[in-house]
Amino acid sequence: MSGTRGLVYAEPGAAPAVEEIVLDEPGPDEVRVRVQACGVCHTDLHVLESEGWHMRFPILLGHEAAGIVEAVGEGVTHVAPGDAVVVAWHVPCGRCRNCLRGDARRCADYLRGARKMRRAADGSRLTPVLRTGGFADALVVHASCAVPMPPALPLEQACLLACGFSTGAGAALWTTPVQPGSSVAVIGCGGVGLAVVQGARLAGAARIVAVDTVPEKLELALELGATEAVEPGAEVREIDFAFSAIGAPAGLVAAVRMLAYGGTACLVGVPPSGRTLDLDVELDLFARHATIAVSHGGDVVPQEDLPFLAQAALDGRLDLARFVTATCSLDEVPAALDALHAPTGVRTVALI
Ligand SMILES: [Zn+2]
Ligand SMILES: [Zn+2]
Repeated sequence: MSGTRGLVYAEPGAAPAVEEIVLDEPGPDEVRVRVQACGVCHTDLHVLESEGWHMRFPILLGHEAAGIVEAVGEGVTHVAPGDAVVVAWHVPCGRCRNCLRGDARRCADYLRGARKMRRAADGSRLTPVLRTGGFADALVVHASCAVPMPPALPLEQACLLACGFSTGAGAALWTTPVQPGSSVAVIGCGGVGLAVVQGARLAGAARIVAVDTVPEKLELALELGATEAVEPGAEVREIDFAFSAIGAPAGLVAAVRMLAYGGTACLVGVPPSGRTLDLDVELDLFARHATIAVSHGGDVVPQEDLPFLAQAALDGRLDLARFVTATCSLDEVPAALDALHAPTGVRTVALI
């Protein structure tokens, strides 16, 4: 097909630019999705600032997309043209040791589909970010990435389930399942931390302490389900589940030190490389009988979990709408990525 545009990062140091792309027809177990919305996530900024994040150039940016199925390849039965879908990137491979023993949440690999998008200018194959892409008019992805969404959920909200929202809510629901009546702390109330608050509320936590330096973020955390809001350094104790949703290792150290006996601290999001934890092994860990857990993208199994989150949003038990604080066009995405250096809202979503 022609007349399709995508946001391409052509080579190290190049500015991302919208250009014509060409999509191959979907083959067996593949689907073509007409993208309608794609969230602007930090991971794409990281791809730009790390000169491609070890990916092969040229790169098709975006990884938080939702849209409508346009065509399906042979053997695809779970979606049909016209269906609303979110395009998930965190899809278990089904073949690694953890998948084979039934623990797909800890899949040691990800499903890798063929690269089906090319630059119109020279025909070179594009590498889509997180095997999906998203800042494009249309995509071809492995069918397992296409997760059906209820038609009533607006696609600019559904797209958040592909990455940011699921990373936070999934940490509280599946990585470290919060127990009803338990106490929770969330350190860092950006988009991911606020989604942890929502997941903990959905799980039935009795006490949710939000920790951040920015008063506006704490206010939003209280509106989204936190029962207390404090600044970093405030004395917080007797927490059953403490989540660090900031990059700095100090967040995880603070989480451990808040724990009640037998509690669990969970690292959410990607930390900077080369940093270490400053913990007293006897007092902080052994005496508390503490567990430290790590979440990768909320450890979601997309085909099961994303429809559950979508239904919870439709039922009013999650507030996805509050997470979309700005929208932009495909052409405005480079500026929206740059604005992530000093974010003013929760999430900007490109409407495509
Ligand atoms: Zn696997
Ligand atoms: Zn993301």
